[in-house]
Amino acid sequence: MPDPTTPSPFGAAAPAAASFSALQLDARVLSAVAGAGYTDPTPIQLAAIPHVLAGHDLIGLAQTGTGKTAAFMLPILTRLAAAPQARRTRVLVLVPTRELATQIEENVNIYANGLSLRCATVFGGVGERSQINALRAGYEVIVACPGRLLDLMDRRIGDFRNLEHLVLDEADRMLDMGFLPSIRRIVRAMPTQRQTLMFSATLSKDIEALTRDFQRAPKKVEIGVRTNPAATVTQRIYEVPRTAKLSLLGYLLQQSSLAEDMESVLIFTRTKHGADRVARKLETMAIPTGVLHSNRSQPQRQKALANFKAGTVRVLVATDIAARGIDVDGISHVVNYDFPMHTEDYIHRIGRTGRANLSGDAISFVCEDDQGPLRQLERSIGHGLPRARAEGFDYAAAEAADVQNEGMAYRQRPTGRPGGGRNPSATDYRHSRGGGRGRR
Ligand code: AMP
Repeated sequence: MPDPTTPSPFGAAAPAAASFSALQLDARVLSAVAGAGYTDPTPIQLAAIPHVLAGHDLIGLAQTGTGKTAAFMLPILTRLAAAPQARRTRVLVLVPTRELATQIEENVNIYANGLSLRCATVFGGVGERSQINALRAGYEVIVACPGRLLDLMDRRIGDFRNLEHLVLDEADRMLDMGFLPSIRRIVRAMPTQRQTLMFSATLSKDIEALTRDFQRAPKKVEIGVRTNPAATVTQRIYEVPRTAKLSLLGYLLQQSSLAEDMESVLIFTRTKHGADRVARKLETMAIPTGVLHSNRSQPQRQKALANFKAGTVRVLVATDIAARGIDVDGISHVVNYDFPMHTEDYIHRIGRTGRANLSGDAISFVCEDDQGPLRQLERSIGHGLPRARAEGFDYAAAEAADVQNEGMAYRQRPTGRPGGGRNPSATDYRHSRGGGRGRR
C-alpha cells in the first residue's frame, strides 16, 4: 500500500513515485488512460490493480470519487484483451443506482476505446428492448442494477456461463437498498470459477458475510474512506431562519459577492418535494435548474444530469439517494439547502466538489433545528466550521416576506389549517428583483 504522505482529493495519500506505465496494463488501455488525462494512478488504483491483474478476489474499502472504477476496470480490460473471445458476456458489474451504472458505462467506453469490446447497462425505469438485445448479443461488459437484471434472467435472457469477472460496486449501498436477496440469486447463477471484486465504503457484518459467501481468499485494500472532508473544499455555515432559506439561496446565486463564482452548483434537499420546490423557485428567477430525484423518470434524470454536465443548466437540485455516485467534474459549489442529518452524508455531499485537485466551496444552511446535527458534525471532524453571513441580505425582511408567501404553504401543513396550498412557484421573488449576477 502506498506510503501516506501528501493529502489527495482521492481521499488518501498520494504515492511518491508511481505511474500507470509501471502497472503492467495493456498498451491500448494505457493510451486510453492517457487520453482521459489521468497522469498518475490514485491510491486505490495503485493498491488494487496488481491484485486484480494477478487474478485475486478483492475487497476494496473505498468510496465513489477515489478512482475505484478505473481500479477494477483497467485490470479487467487488460485481462479480457489478453484472451479475446467475441460475443460472450465476460464481466458483470452490479451497482445500486442507474446513475452509477451509466457513469461506469461511460468510463468503460473511455477505457476500452482501443479494444473491440461492447458495454451495456441494464436497469429499470427504461425500455428493456435494447437491454435484451445487448444481453442476447453477448456484450462483453454488463453493468446492471439487480432488480431489472434478475427480472430478465428469470425470463432466461442473458447467458452468463462464460462470466469471468463479477464486481459488486457500492455493496453497502446495495444492501441498504434491500438488494441482498436479488444479489444472492444473481451470484448463485454465475459460474463458480470467476474473479469476484467487491467495493464498499464501509465494512459491516453483512458485507463480511457476503465476502465469506462469494469470495475466495480475497485481498483487502482500504483506501479513500474519508473521515474528513477533502482539504480542497472550503466550508461555510449560514445560520438562517427556515422560512428565509429560499430567499437566501436566490440572493447567493444572483446578488451576493459569491454569485459570479457559483458557476456549477449542486444543491441538496432532504425530500423530493423540497427539491421540486427549490427548482421551481429558481426557475421563476430565470436560473436554469435541473432536478434529480427518484420520482423523475429515467429519461428526465438522464437529461438533467447531462445538461448539468454540459453546463447548460447552472444548478442541479438533488436528494441524497439520487445524487449517490454522481460524478461531475468541476462542480464549483455544493449547497446543503437542508442540512444533512448524518455526518457521513455531509462528507459525501461536499465530496462532489473539490475533486481532482480543483478547489470547491460547500455552503450549508443551518436552521434552528439543525443545531444538533451541526454540533455532531463538528465533533466528528474535530473542529468548528466557519460561520458566514450574506452581506447585504436582509434576513428579517426575507423571513417576514417568506412567511407571508412561501412559508405559509409548509407552515400550515402540519397544523392542518386550511388554505395553505398556494403554489409556491406563483409567488414573486422579492429580494432578487433588480439585482444582477456577480456584483463584486
Ligand atoms: P470514481 O471513484 O471511479 O467515481 O472516479 C472519480 C473521478 O476520478 C472520475 O471523474 C474519474 O474519471 C476520475 N479519475 C479516476 N482515476 C483518475 C486518475 N488516475 N487521475 C485523475 N482522475 C481520475
